[in-house]
Order: sequence, then C-alpha cells, then structure tokens
Amino acid sequence: MAVNKVKGTYDVLPSESFRWQALEEKIRSILALYNIKEMRTPIMEYSEVFHRQSELSDMVTKETYDFDDRGDRKLTLRPEGTAGIIRSYVENKLYATQELEKVYYIGPNFRYERPQKGRYRQFFQFGVEAIGALDPALDAEMIILSYDFIKRLGLKGVSVRINTLGDDESRKTYQEALISHFEPHKDTLCEDCQARLLKNPLRILDCKVDQTHEAIIQAPTPQDYLNESSKAYFKQVLSHLTAAKIHYEIAPRLVRGLDYYSHIVFEIEADIEGFGAQNVLGGGGRYQKLVKELGGPDLGGIGFAFGMERLLMALEAENIELAVEKPLDAFIIVFNEDIRPKATQILYQLRQANYIADMNYTQKAFKGQLKQALRLNAKYLIILGDDEYQKGVVAIKNTATEVQEEVPFSRIAHYFKENVGK
Ligand code: AMP
Repeated sequence: MAVNKVKGTYDVLPSESFRWQALEEKIRSILALYNIKEMRTPIMEYSEVFHRQSELSDMVTKETYDFDDRGDRKLTLRPEGTAGIIRSYVENKLYATQELEKVYYIGPNFRYERPQKGRYRQFFQFGVEAIGALDPALDAEMIILSYDFIKRLGLKGVSVRINTLGDDESRKTYQEALISHFEPHKDTLCEDCQARLLKNPLRILDCKVDQTHEAIIQAPTPQDYLNESSKAYFKQVLSHLTAAKIHYEIAPRLVRGLDYYSHIVFEIEADIEGFGAQNVLGGGGRYQKLVKELGGPDLGGIGFAFGMERLLMALEAENIELAVEKPLDAFIIVFNEDIRPKATQILYQLRQANYIADMNYTQKAFKGQLKQALRLNAKYLIILGDDEYQKGVVAIKNTATEVQEEVPFSRIAHYFKENVGK
C-alpha cells in the first residue's frame, strides 16, 4: 500500500533542495554580519512552554499538535520559535553570562491550520531573538536587519510596516478601550474572537475569519493610548531608522497576533501579485514579560520570524535565483565491466581533489551513459575504453567546446586543475 504525505506537509525533492540550501546560506551569512549566533532547540517541548497559564498565552490549543508521550508527559510540537528559545535561555541561565543574547534559529514549526497556498501544517521559519535589553537602538537593529535581509535577497515589492503598542500601562488602557469598543458587537464576532474579547482583545484585530467586519475596521488604534514614555521610545526607534535611511511605513492598525508583544511590532509585507492573504513574509515585536513568565528574570527581548516557504515563493514570483545548481565537473563513461574498478579509482581521485564527479550504476551501454552525462550537464566526459585502458590513458572531452584530449591516468587531476581550476 502506498502511503501519502501527511495533509498540509510537503517534500523537498532532490531537484529543489539547492534553493533551500541557498536561502539558508544567505540567512547565515547575513546574520553573521550582525553578530548573531545560531541556537538549536528541540522541535518538541513540554506543552506548558506554549500553553502557559497566564493571560499572555496566545497559542490557541486547537492550532497545536499536542500529545502524550509513552511516559504520559504532555508534549507539544513547536508552533513557533520564540517560546522554546526563551525556555532554553532561562534553563541555561544565558542571562548570567551575557547582558544581551542575540540568537537565530532555522527550523520546522507545526500548526494544525487549514492548509492552502503558502500555509502548511509543517512549515519552516528562520527567526532572530535579542534577549536581555530594552533599547530603542536594538529594536531599530531588528527592523534594519529584516529590511537588509529582504534587500539582499533582491526582493523589490516589499515594505516594512511598523507600529507601537506602548508599554504595559499604555497597552492596558488600550486593551480596555478595545473591550468597550467590541462589547456591543460581541454577538457578531467569530467564535474565536468572542473568546478573545476579555482575554486578549488585541487579537481580534488579526481575525483570520472576517477582516472586513465593521467593528474591526472602526476599532481604536494603540497610538491614541500611548503614555509619554511610550511615545518617546517609539520616536527614538524611528530616529535610528531614519539615520540609517531605512524605508518604513507606520501602520497604526498593526498589532500582530502574538499577544505578549509590547512597544514595537513590525511586519514585512510583499506586494506580489497572486499572494493574497499570504503576503506577510515575516514579522515580529518586542516582548517584555515572556522571559519572566517562563521562569527567568525580569528581562525583555525583541524578535522576528520569516516564513521560509513564503520567501521562496516570493523569490520565484520575482524570478530571483539565489543560486544555480552546480553541474558535474566530470562524468566517467566506461566501456566494459572489467575496467570499471579503474573508473572507481579515478572517481575517488577526482573527488579527493574536490571535483564533482559521477558515473553510471545501472549497467547502461555507452549511449545510455552518454545521455545521462549530458542530462546532468557534465562539463567534461571522461571516456574509458579498452584501447585507452591498455594505453594507460582516458579521453577527456569538453562538452561545450567538443575538444577532446588524451590524458594519462596520472595526469587526470592535474588536467582538471588546469582546465576547471580549484
Ligand atoms: P507568525 O509566527 O504567525 O507571526 O508567522 C511568521 C511568518 O511565518 C509568517 O509571516 C509566515 O511567513 C510564516 N507562517 C506562519 N504560519 C505559517 C504556515 N502555517 N505555513 C507557512 N508559513 C507560515
């Protein structure tokens, strides 16, 4: 019986993986410039990491993959990257040695959502967390990094949208204002939003069910409820962005889904045709309570995450190739089984010298081997026939120029060094 992939998941096939690798390499090289190190945490955590008791806990239970392991522990496949990183930051007491810890992660997340184009049940994110400091320059750095990243990818139709929710006090007043605003419309809100009304009214503004709801459109914005120090903080962040000549847009209605945010929230949006609702490539914000909530000291952080599938979709839509798949340097064509050990030896030598080389393993005759070599775009054919073998040579043919030369066994690697380099 053939078994299919799990609903909402996808395979990266051998012909596509180089695109993922190129994107990952790009990410790693850019993040290194910002002095950000990688952190790898497990894809499963105890459920309480995501389903916290407090009002801050955002992850809707029905969106997560929760299960009991064989020891009856309640576990959850991570639906997002931040909480696991903070759990590890606290558990490993990273705050004790570093006042500010800047880290990034790349890995899969799991959400039980309705799959559609650009929305999967297993999807990859890369994200950054800067934990331990409250500094407008740091918030600006995270926004600058997001901007720099999409610029370096070559994406053009992309904008950075920023807003502030203000500090705790401002947020509370705003939250109360939202509750009084939505209360009279409660019955017309979707089921999830009715539940959010008292617990987390900010999330109603992100409602995935009905963004055209009149009450959502008319809702007050956080800007109207900022206290003086929150206004000043926001202004400082913007002055850093202006100094660095970063293009941004202030989006007064932007609040972002995760409810642990305070102060800065931002989103990177691609204006790409056909993307529809999936045009948000990434986003993030500042969180001031999460570290404490997960058992750590009273320290804040700021982070963001990009969806890798959406980045690849955006690159494809704008016809940007981050890398081309490297073709083979050499393909060895062997005429006869008896002399194949010689081909094995040559292959090994070429690979030792760092050339990409291969041969046929499915008993194909000369013509079949030739076809395979051309399909693989090999730069050179190494032809090993009986006559050549007797003479201690191979014929090496440049597939572009069709020039063919006889080369002694002992000079093959040297020949490649002269003609291909490395
Ligand atoms: P979030 O963690 O919900 O703020 O999402 C951050 C980014 O991850 C989004 O902007 C998307 O690019 C991506 N993303 C979130 N959920 C999914 C999903 N189910 N499938 C694919 N990408 C996703």
